[in-house]
Amino acid sequence: MIVVAGVKLHIPATHILIYTSFFPLKRGRGLTGLKNLGNTCYMNSIIQCLSNTPQLTEYCITDKYKNYISRSNKTKGHIVEEVAALIKVLWNGNYKCVASKDLRYVMGQYQQIFRGIEQQDSHEFLTILMDWLHSDLQTLHVPEKPRDNITPSEKAWLEFTKAKESLILHLFYGQIKSTVKCVDCNKESATYECFSNLSLELPSNANVCYLSQCMDMYFSGERIHGWNCPNCKTKRDAVKKLDISKLPPVLVIHMKRFYADTDAVGNSYKKKQNYVRFPLENLDMTPYIAKSESRSVTPKTYQLYGVSNHYGSMESGHYTAFCKSGNYGRWFKFDDQVVSPLDTSNVVSSAAYILFYTWLPPIQITENNNAN
Ligand SMILES: [Zn+2]
Repeated sequence: MIVVAGVKLHIPATHILIYTSFFPLKRGRGLTGLKNLGNTCYMNSIIQCLSNTPQLTEYCITDKYKNYISRSNKTKGHIVEEVAALIKVLWNGNYKCVASKDLRYVMGQYQQIFRGIEQQDSHEFLTILMDWLHSDLQTLHVPEKPRDNITPSEKAWLEFTKAKESLILHLFYGQIKSTVKCVDCNKESATYECFSNLSLELPSNANVCYLSQCMDMYFSGERIHGWNCPNCKTKRDAVKKLDISKLPPVLVIHMKRFYADTDAVGNSYKKKQNYVRFPLENLDMTPYIAKSESRSVTPKTYQLYGVSNHYGSMESGHYTAFCKSGNYGRWFKFDDQVVSPLDTSNVVSSAAYILFYTWLPPIQITENNNAN
């Protein structure tokens, strides 16, 4: 039995006109806030970004996910059940705000850091949540007969997924190719790694920068020393280069704002406050695709639909989410229990921490989608 506490929405009569112009449907489906249960804004911020991923929301509120729940993994399907229950409540249009107590309780059962009332990193929360949601939904997908011409990238993908697939994997997971090349003999060696989000460094010498600069830094080659070259059979200098070998439909980009302060005593973290200019439309990933994979047919330009923001410092900070509602075609600010319209010109700010981009076409979440 899943119960999510909620507060009914009461609109003062004088505000009805304003609200109906902002919320053309009854009560603003998908515009329900999340109460802060004591520093849970990191969680709320991520949940709102996920809730504004229409393909995931539709999967939850139509109960499609129930056909794919896996009980044989660590979290036994409990995480996806709680996430789906919460998303359903966020989209039923009945509540101004609700509390995500049950999700927090279940997450805390499997990971101690989510149990307490301390502030946590929304990026860490997202990465763990993605991993758990994938394993909660994974089903064995018997691949077609192994082809003789299976590419190294496809082989590595199969090794990672172990032929188990999920909606989460299909939506959010991509793959990076890492190539190391000997500077003496040009011998190349490639490895592949899967990701549910890209973690980009920010330049430390610029207060204002472009997302493309962070991408260039991440994907441009770096010189490494003492690489065991299999051809020269000795340690050599080499160049290590990253490229994308598989682009996911939903591309999540994390900007590494927190870093260990080496001057401080003990474990101390500092925050980079860079103002990163990122595109709301047409983020082009073409320059970062591995040449060997460039013929794959997926779209390579993305539209922004969600931002997890962090304000303040490592010790005392606050998270919000800016999300573009697919249903209303406009941006909203989700600040714990308060949801308010947001002007598009305010989406880019120095608080931006995690960006959610998609190339999937928008879908309308209608009342008929609701399973209950
Ligand atoms: Zn060599």
